[in-house]
Amino acid sequence: MSAEDKDSNKPFIHEPLYDVAVVGGGLVGAVAALCFDRFGGDGFKVALFEAGLLDASYQTDQPGEGKVLYSGRAYALSEGSRAILDVLGLWQEMAKFAQPIEEIEVTDSQLESPFRPVFLSFSGEIEHGRVGAYIIEHERLAAPIYRALRAKTEIAVFENSPITDLQRDAQSVELSFKGGEKLRSRLCIGADGRGSSVRSLSEIKVHRSDYDQDGIVVTVALSQPHHGKAVQHFLPSGPFAILPLPGDRASLVWTEKRGLAAEMCALSDEEFISQVNARFSPKLGTVELAGPRAHFPLSLLLAYSFIDKRVALIGDAAHGVHPLAGQGMNIGLRDVAALVEIVVETRRLGLDIGSEVVLERYQQWRRFDGVMSAFAMDGMNRLFASEVPLVREVRDFGLRLVDRLPPLKEFFVREAAGLNGDVPLLMQGKKL
Ligand SMILES: Cc1cc2nc3c(=O)[nH]c(=O)nc-3n(C[C@H](O)[C@H](O)[C@H](O)COP(=O)(O)OP(=O)(O)OC[C@H]3O[C@@H](n4cnc5c(N)ncnc54)[C@H](O)[C@@H]3O)c2cc1C
Repeated sequence: MSAEDKDSNKPFIHEPLYDVAVVGGGLVGAVAALCFDRFGGDGFKVALFEAGLLDASYQTDQPGEGKVLYSGRAYALSEGSRAILDVLGLWQEMAKFAQPIEEIEVTDSQLESPFRPVFLSFSGEIEHGRVGAYIIEHERLAAPIYRALRAKTEIAVFENSPITDLQRDAQSVELSFKGGEKLRSRLCIGADGRGSSVRSLSEIKVHRSDYDQDGIVVTVALSQPHHGKAVQHFLPSGPFAILPLPGDRASLVWTEKRGLAAEMCALSDEEFISQVNARFSPKLGTVELAGPRAHFPLSLLLAYSFIDKRVALIGDAAHGVHPLAGQGMNIGLRDVAALVEIVVETRRLGLDIGSEVVLERYQQWRRFDGVMSAFAMDGMNRLFASEVPLVREVRDFGLRLVDRLPPLKEFFVREAAGLNGDVPLLMQGKKL
């Protein structure tokens, strides 16, 4: 924008007409912008808006490169999500920091039980030598993604630019930002998280339910090798997940009642770690702190519709799920893969990428999965929180039954890998 334009009171309209405007530069929006840029075809114009700074969530101790400052957050990354990152040429840099999950144990044994029996155990492999998921720290995942975005001069990136208004006509959607600037696009993609402005400006209603739980996340160093084993221990206050990281460390996602989570995080290091060790599987030895701790409020959020006129919602803007299965971002990346596939196909046919037909196709592909995932995790969280003896017996029987049914176990591992159902091409590792 020229100084003259900035000084005038007239709204500044960015030209020309963009093809997609992605609102929200979290991991899901950032990957969406990269996929559209890569597969959109000649002249396909992508804009990305972020309310803050793009890579604010991954920091180094110096501008540019430098030592990474860890937040303590890590993700279970499904094979399908890994495939998208691989197609984008980003996985190679991440791979050495990602821990393959070789084995998964599920239990709801009582902490006071001396044996802590395991009710269900899986191999983490979807086929021989190929695992279904990895654990990777936020910074190791985010750094290559944001570096690639910054290198892509073709993508118009607007930082410190929250979207404040959307106006639609028959051909385009006009986005307002920075108190007067405007940009027009054929399609607006709301990737702006749980508090999505795109969703509220489109008057899409949501179903919300608060869990009165927080997820405490922290990285710990283990006294014994983990051999790639992930443990999900369902406790009455919520699941306690031990997710293996390279170098015999683990990321813990520890769900606690809201007030108690804040209290735990305020404890001294020694008191905190003794609380962790009290919950930790004795078979895995003991732990020491290896990073900062943080806690996040947990809730269920589901948009009644994933689309509106010239608008599609992806990621947490469309569905916010309980983290007990580590699927929130993976489901968001599946939205990305499906939407990019539909848009690219439509553009190659020379048709309008923001039309109702395109949006309906996206909604049909993704909404059922989003709803099922949200309610499945909600149901599991409630079921495992119950201390009623009959409920405990029935669910332990269920776990033991699944343990004896290899085809069902295989189904669950493929589900966690993001490889069941109508899998978008990018998630199969195929280019568009
Ligand atoms: C404790 C915990 C553990 C988890 N573990 C896992 C896991 O193991 N695996 C997994 O797959 N998922 C996991 N998740 C879920 C995962 O973190 C989220 O699903 C994912 O980060 C959502 O990404 P997003 O890009 O959709 O939204 P966000 O990360 O919320 O990003 C939204 C972005 O939009 C920007 N924004 C907001 N409003 C505007 C606006 N008006 N204009 C422009 N920009 C705007 C924000 O600044 C932000 O950068 C976990 C979640 C929690 C809480």
